[in-house]
Amino acid sequence: MKTYTQYLTMHLPERYGFVNITRQVEEAVRQSGVREGLCLVNTMHITSSVFINDDERGLHEDFLRWLEKLAPYNPDPNVYHHNRTGEDNADAHLKRQIMGREVVVAITKGKLDFGPWEQIFYGEFDGRRPKRVLIKIIGE
Ligand code: ZN
Repeated sequence: MKTYTQYLTMHLPERYGFVNITRQVEEAVRQSGVREGLCLVNTMHITSSVFINDDERGLHEDFLRWLEKLAPYNPDPNVYHHNRTGEDNADAHLKRQIMGREVVVAITKGKLDFGPWEQIFYGEFDGRRPKRVLIKIIGE
């Protein structure tokens, strides 16, 4: 069995944002030489996400608005217990939990075996600092 590991560094200039990382993951699959297997992609931080959905601007705006309704940014420690630690990112932890930590994609004939509109995204909820994403590929 082959294994391949790669780390991406993400550094978004804003607090929130989504980045399509599909090309980087496809490149990692190519580098791995795996033809049949599995590809795990996960963020290594607890205030960001990796998820699969459509690469459509309107949808991304809808995600951000929906997340802001569910877990609005508010540094007030009376609103979020987590912010009593002196941090201001309780909302980012909650947003990440909704959007998920990782995705697993099947590799078939050397390619990510996606449905028709599936793309892999990095979701940032507390940016302006570097964060890592792990790509782990196993198979034959
Ligand atoms: Zn925190």
